[in-house]
Amino acid sequence: MRFDGKPVRSVVSDNDRELTTVTLAVPATVGRHTLSFAYRGRIEKVPAGLFAQDYRDRQGVAGILLSSIMEPTDARRMFPCWDEPAFRATFKLQATVRADWGSVSNMPVERRVVHGSLATTTFRRSPRMPSYLVEYSAGHLAHISATSRGTHLSVWAVRGQESHGNTALADARQILSDYNEYFDYPFPLPKLDSIAVPGGFPGGMENWGAITYDERALLLTPASTLADRQHVFSIQAHEVAHQWNGDLVTMGWWDDIWLNESFASWMAAKETAQRHPQWHWWLSQDANKESAMAADSRTSSHPIQQHVTDELQANNAFDADITYRKGQAFLRMLETSLGEDTFRTAMRRFMKRHAYSNATTADLWNALSEASGRDVGALAAGWTEQPGFPLVNVEARCDASGARSLSLSQARFLLSGTAVPGPRWTVPLQVRSGARGSAQGLMLLQDGQNVAAGRCDEALSLNADAVGYYRVKYDPATLAVNTKQFARLGDGDRIALLDDQWALVESGASPLASYLALVAAMGTDLVPRAWEQISTALETIEYAERGMGGHEAFATYARSILRPEFDRLGWNAGLDEPADVQQLRRALIRDLGTWGDQGVIDGARRRFTSFAADHRSIGPDDQPVILSVVARYADASTFQQLHELARMTRDQSERTRFFSALMQVRDPELATQAARIALSDDIPPQVDSMRLSLVFELAPDHQQLAWLTFSQNSRALLKPHVLYGPLIAAQDMPRNFWSGVPLAELESWVRSHVPAEMATDIERGMEAAQFKLAEKATLVREADAYLH
Ligand SMILES: [Zn+2]
Repeated sequence: MRFDGKPVRSVVSDNDRELTTVTLAVPATVGRHTLSFAYRGRIEKVPAGLFAQDYRDRQGVAGILLSSIMEPTDARRMFPCWDEPAFRATFKLQATVRADWGSVSNMPVERRVVHGSLATTTFRRSPRMPSYLVEYSAGHLAHISATSRGTHLSVWAVRGQESHGNTALADARQILSDYNEYFDYPFPLPKLDSIAVPGGFPGGMENWGAITYDERALLLTPASTLADRQHVFSIQAHEVAHQWNGDLVTMGWWDDIWLNESFASWMAAKETAQRHPQWHWWLSQDANKESAMAADSRTSSHPIQQHVTDELQANNAFDADITYRKGQAFLRMLETSLGEDTFRTAMRRFMKRHAYSNATTADLWNALSEASGRDVGALAAGWTEQPGFPLVNVEARCDASGARSLSLSQARFLLSGTAVPGPRWTVPLQVRSGARGSAQGLMLLQDGQNVAAGRCDEALSLNADAVGYYRVKYDPATLAVNTKQFARLGDGDRIALLDDQWALVESGASPLASYLALVAAMGTDLVPRAWEQISTALETIEYAERGMGGHEAFATYARSILRPEFDRLGWNAGLDEPADVQQLRRALIRDLGTWGDQGVIDGARRRFTSFAADHRSIGPDDQPVILSVVARYADASTFQQLHELARMTRDQSERTRFFSALMQVRDPELATQAARIALSDDIPPQVDSMRLSLVFELAPDHQQLAWLTFSQNSRALLKPHVLYGPLIAAQDMPRNFWSGVPLAELESWVRSHVPAEMATDIERGMEAAQFKLAEKATLVREADAYLH
């Protein structure tokens, strides 16, 4: 360790505090100095810092791939650095590995020298960037390449697999050229690599110029599904958006991580919707918005922007529902309110102004305020600086001629139903009067605000096209008109009404009958997202009814709602059938199968018999649902057969499907075997992380067994989930086991396994479990009364 070439007095590393203190021999003068370190690091076994990933290739041969993941605070595991996003630095990497290995980093190779069995690769110096974006991967890698307006694009994969990256490579070209245009700022590095890592961490990591992906999110094989295909496009759209927002312009500190994540999520959805109109992407994103709103309607929710003081909190700031999904929905609502062109102008200004530098949320609001001439900071504060969102109350009045005027007010919406006075939002409403009229923007600023809105006999939507991140409660007369005309409303308006009315039922603010009345009035031309909303609601009630006297009656009713749509769609997809329709068919098969529809169960069994003889007889997309219906009612020999299939396959996606299906089995003895399988060596090392999902999949039907399996093996099951382990323990656990394990037992387990600093996460998990228990009682009572 030297300071300007001279020895220092001391270097002390405190691993617990992740801090190295250097004491100089003499005080430093003001000005530039150079610290040089010689140091040894460790190659990690888990994906944190530079890590080694074990895998078996398609021939079953074992291999090792080196890769890295630094975000948020693991670059320090690889080298000493000022490991915070505001300290941008240039990086120049040199690596010596086996000569038959490929090496990839953020920048192109400057030179490569082979000496005997080893090769030393030197990469070009990077521009100024944060340490959490440094990347290095090496192994038996091969690549395919293309060029897009001077940028060299490659997809890297374990040798022999690279051709499975063809679709991803074509996607990357499209996305890069669209973003060059959107930001009006050309991609700043000479090359952009995408590296398929065989397992290790889920999803992707936006390292500048060298994005790493779990191979399942990047490579497509003949066994891949349409959902895999959509994932490959949308996740690239997300990670490539980060190359600008995140990498070129970085948040100053982890408080503003939402700026990176929400923006990339919103931009990815916009890009996916634009490039693949047949996927009806925004309608399908409504499910993500609902998931965010469910989390955000609890008292323990948190603001999008939250204070982060240390490493642990930085890890926990990556909250999918609030950081990613609420942020995405808010940005979409804001874009709709300000206008697409204004929004883009502001983004261009923001990029140019802060390129190679750091920015805060306030900087983004300033750019948007300048472009729109409105005080965006004031509007946004309610949505990003406080938790939750408003319930907009609508009271309509009719004059003698039938003209309608509305009196509007707001309060925070909570699933617990308790009203909390205080928080207020500036709500950018989109109002539509009449089933098909055009929508008008309207800012809700104060309670009692009055506004004229068409005629009293017309349907009314205050969340036209379901763009808004708020809920609406209509007075009984207006709801009655909306219900009567429900079948004639536009798709987005129907979806918004179903979402809101179901949430009002869950919060106790409206009776279940008001929601089921919409279901009864739905007509025959619902879009898939509306059906998905209905099927999810029916699933919730059916699960609540399990073990109760009214279960059979409810299952019969639920089947009668979905069966006509399934009869209309049939078992087989038509030519050029849109993706969301195909997904709907599968959801219907799954629900009808689970709820005991004998025709569907028999149909699935027939298809499985053909499948066992010839795997090509069921397409990869249909396999999961057919396998799961068959597995649910499997006897010992069918279970054995599925297990054999799971063990034999070399295809990652197929393997996941078979193991997952095994967990659906209803027979208690076979379920015990399934639990053993989830822990066994049948699961290859690169998908270690799958074990936990398998145990969770066992949970709905076998609470005690899954709980014992989880609690007795929690250390091993959580180990592969380095970054998210404590979060999963705090939150997913209560959500998976609330119906069969006493809450006190769950809570004491969580408290003894999760660091005390995560008290709010623990509270969140337990609040969700308590809510589910209370909801079960209400739903069962109201469903029984409705069907009586
Ligand atoms: Zn991201």
